[in-house]
Amino acid sequence: MERDDSNRPTRKHTQAIHAGKPDNSSYGELSVPIFQTSTFAFPDAEDGAARFSGEKPGYIYSRLNNPTVNALEDAVASLENGFGGIATATGMAAVTAVLIALLARSTHVAATDSLYGATRVALELELPRFGVETTFVDTSNLVSLEHALRPETRLVFLETPTNPTMILTDIRAAAEIAHRHGALLVVDNTFASPYLQRPVDLGADVVVHSMTKFINGHSDVLGGMIVARTEELHREFKRTLSIFGGTMDPHQAWLILRGLRTMPLRLEKAQKNALKLARFLSLHPKVTWVRYPGLPDHPQHEIAKKQMDGFGSMICFGVRNGLKGGITVMNSVRLITLAVSLGGIESLIEHPASMTHAAIPREGREKAGILDELVRLSVGCEDYEDLKEDLDHALSLIQ
Ligand SMILES: *Cc1c(COP(=O)(O)O)cnc(C)c1O
Repeated sequence: MERDDSNRPTRKHTQAIHAGKPDNSSYGELSVPIFQTSTFAFPDAEDGAARFSGEKPGYIYSRLNNPTVNALEDAVASLENGFGGIATATGMAAVTAVLIALLARSTHVAATDSLYGATRVALELELPRFGVETTFVDTSNLVSLEHALRPETRLVFLETPTNPTMILTDIRAAAEIAHRHGALLVVDNTFASPYLQRPVDLGADVVVHSMTKFINGHSDVLGGMIVARTEELHREFKRTLSIFGGTMDPHQAWLILRGLRTMPLRLEKAQKNALKLARFLSLHPKVTWVRYPGLPDHPQHEIAKKQMDGFGSMICFGVRNGLKGGITVMNSVRLITLAVSLGGIESLIEHPASMTHAAIPREGREKAGILDELVRLSVGCEDYEDLKEDLDHALSLIQ
């Protein structure tokens, strides 16, 4: 069964602002209250029994359901156009719940090679203990993707754009390949955000998010979300989450819902800055290359135009003098903050070869396109001129 959304707003700014609002409050409050309670009283034994059996709606216990958390889940599910959403404590709780719910001994996963680090570790080092194997493949190459599939492949797991290399995979084509081989398509949509990319509309079965990034957008809360296309999958994830327990707290949900309301505004401003900065960097003498989906020389620029509603605010670029050049930039920015994470209102910069990806031996890094000279920039909502001046100054100090 797919979700009935005949009464929901369908335009994205309106959705972000209004989706998930309660429609049966007796006080008329505009903001969803924080239902800071672990449990809910039953009027009588019969009612409690009916809630447990699912015959009657109603809240039981906050690990299972909570009205504040539900408001956030409805809002993100409507932006993603899925059947329903399930909020989780962190992005990794969303990723691992999906893997645990759908995989079993002797099943196989085909996944994008440059996945978020912890997702890669879960698939490469943790799941083999339970008899699950993963093939990592450059999913932007559909021929390689198809070759990676086996009869026992249960999932194709994609990230697009990838971190930190900004490579895109054609989601519609990947869904077609996965389905032809009897597998489900899961897309980690964190880097694009539901404002810029809706994988369910392109054929994905499951979308996961680290809401820590663009959805919350203020670098102050962790959170994750699972959106399933169908009711059947939604129920599977709900069951897994309530047993394994990585669910979200109501206070956390309220903060993220507050962040979500301005996601479209933040992204419009940030991606405008990002496009201008990408053009500026392309012409800079200390910059060797720039990869941003909005530049015509990006290898998947045409796919970006087709499957995204904007090019986003993540840029990666190479600097002269490799590792040393990268470190010089990190130590010389004054406004842009040297920090991992992304998707907040403030611009953050990091150097994967010496930081997030330093644990991977150089050869493995280079194979995944993470060169020593690569700098990752999460562009925020500051004034463009300030960002440009800051980068220009830091770059000028490279020998
Ligand atoms: C940050 C991130 C995650 C993990 O999210 P947490 O909220 O830190 O657990 C997963 N996938 C991607 C693409 C991310 O950027």
